[in-house]
Amino acid sequence: MVSKNYLISVDFGGTKILTALLDSKHKIIARLKVATDASRGKMFMVKTLAGAIQKLLEESKLKETDIKAICIGIPGSVNPYTGEIGTAPNLGITNFNFREAIAKYFSIPVLIENDVNLGALGVVNFELKGQGKNSMFVFVGTGIGGALFFDGKIYRGTNNFAGEIGHMIVQPNGPLCGCGKKGCFEALAGRLAIVREIKKELKKKPKGVLKQYATGKKPIKSKALALAVKKRDPIALKHIDNACHTIGQTLANITTLLNLDLIVLGGGVIEAVGKYMLPKIKSSFKEFVMKDSGRNIKIINTALGDDAAIYGGIALADEFKDMLEK
Ligand SMILES: [Zn+2]
Repeated sequence: MVSKNYLISVDFGGTKILTALLDSKHKIIARLKVATDASRGKMFMVKTLAGAIQKLLEESKLKETDIKAICIGIPGSVNPYTGEIGTAPNLGITNFNFREAIAKYFSIPVLIENDVNLGALGVVNFELKGQGKNSMFVFVGTGIGGALFFDGKIYRGTNNFAGEIGHMIVQPNGPLCGCGKKGCFEALAGRLAIVREIKKELKKKPKGVLKQYATGKKPIKSKALALAVKKRDPIALKHIDNACHTIGQTLANITTLLNLDLIVLGGGVIEAVGKYMLPKIKSSFKEFVMKDSGRNIKIINTALGDDAAIYGGIALADEFKDMLEK
């Protein structure tokens, strides 16, 4: 019996794929980032991912038999038991057994999970270490994703769609969301929403730190937002504050329903300006939550960043260890 001490974790996005190799002590010993292109179809993406994993193996001089599992986080609805993707809009994939497609390239067991769930599993196991029994994870990036844990266990829901906080309607007839509906949470408080409002204002009157973005299609990324906050740019602060207000209110409603003990915030926007946002989110939360439901809650920012999903692979492999031994 060969000891399988290593694990490969993957954060699979529509434009880039992050792969990492972890050793038995849960240390990341190698990383590889490759570009991909969702518009070229699912088989192209499968091939790109398989190529990246092969390269990671070659570069680290490991054999397939050294690897316990390949754990992949996918932005979409994923059935981790069957390996099927229901819908992954950013990847242009619907009803496709992604696990089988990847497994054809390797003799290593493959597991897939929703990317936000995988990130949350990483934070729960490697940052919180037992803190938080009933918790919610909210990742504020381009959009907003969520994951739920009840009694310390991840809650995936009936069709593995649980946690889709970004598409809760928080403002009827509000701004159009990428999902086709109007007034979704992420259409009001995700990065694209914050940036949309900033650009609208800059178009009327270009001034301040972000003035250069007033014309043209250059996107305002999280880094630019961080700089604007650092320089106390009034336009950026105004729209980030609005987002904080919406986030606090939405988290308050969820806490009133679920009586959570912990909310963890993460994602690109939180990584960049979370320090500024957290007190504002907390104050709106306090304003709207039902007192008894929100009394013992902690709201924190995660420090794991991009590595959350990578560490999540360890927890996923552990949860599905029976499937790996078959
Ligand atoms: Zn939506």
